[in-house]
Amino acid sequence: MTVRILDGRSVASHLWRELSERTALFVERHEAPPRLAILRFDADGPSALYATSVERAARGVGIGPLVITAPDGITETDLVARIGALNRDHGVSGIVVAQPLPEGVSLQEVTGAIDPAKDVDGATAENAGRLARGERAMVPATALAIMELLRRHDVPIAGRRAVVIGRSAVVGRPIAQLLLAADATVTVCHRQTRNLARETRRAEILVAAAGVPHLVRREMVSRSCTVLDAGINVTADGVVGDVDFEEVRHAAAAITPVPGGVGPVTTMMLLAQTMDAAERLAQASAADEALSRYDLPASREVVG
Ligand code: ADP
Repeated sequence: MTVRILDGRSVASHLWRELSERTALFVERHEAPPRLAILRFDADGPSALYATSVERAARGVGIGPLVITAPDGITETDLVARIGALNRDHGVSGIVVAQPLPEGVSLQEVTGAIDPAKDVDGATAENAGRLARGERAMVPATALAIMELLRRHDVPIAGRRAVVIGRSAVVGRPIAQLLLAADATVTVCHRQTRNLARETRRAEILVAAAGVPHLVRREMVSRSCTVLDAGINVTADGVVGDVDFEEVRHAAAAITPVPGGVGPVTTMMLLAQTMDAAERLAQASAADEALSRYDLPASREVVG
């Protein structure tokens, strides 16, 4: 049996076209493109690398990127104030914070300051809480990318056994919640899991998000398994996933490659959520305008 390669680049290029059409329509209606604020902490380090790739992709689909480089030594209080200003800026639809943050600055404090309505990478506790309750939420882009790959490749989810390796707030937990919301039976594994292979062998859908190069080996997957690799590990041999692709491709039913799998779709999902936010905020402000004509209170106060 030959393995199905779940190609992320083709999914990303479909999404690119769809998003370009959506932004063009938005510009036609509102005379300005949606804007995505990207906060970064260095000019040429890892946070800049992320910021540049998001900036390019945003511009590519017609979203206006607004890159803000925080000066060296910026305090948490200053960062929170800057995010407050972006929250109040009606021209900004989405806010994303590039990692890593400077030492001494708390990720929770900074991302917690983002208006949940502009939280296009699902970083706030409010969006995480909504997701955990099974309500509509903005979700971390990597988790959404995995769902998009499953959907676009027609992989059934309902009723199937899904196993997630990793319980981080950015990948493991949100993907487990999304799979649960899609009616899978979900098991979440982590560092304290006693026998990882025993769990993964039962998986019909396996998500690897542990940050460990080549953690998933041939003997850990079954023939019917669809394997999604969210790992991006920089090693001496280049970027490798959490799955040993060369081994597992001979054992599983379907697999995402690294690079070219989850990664390219992730940025597109961030932009898709920026468009969702832009459309919702435009609708809310049109409703507020209508109310203000009758001198009624605004329907939505922006968090300052
Ligand atoms: P990521 O950002 O890729 O989610 P993190 O470092 O934030 O990575 O989280 C890694 C997660 O992977 C943790 O939840 C941890 O318990 C899990 N993990 C790491 N190593 C292993 C392992 N060998 N077996 C099972 N789970 C692991």
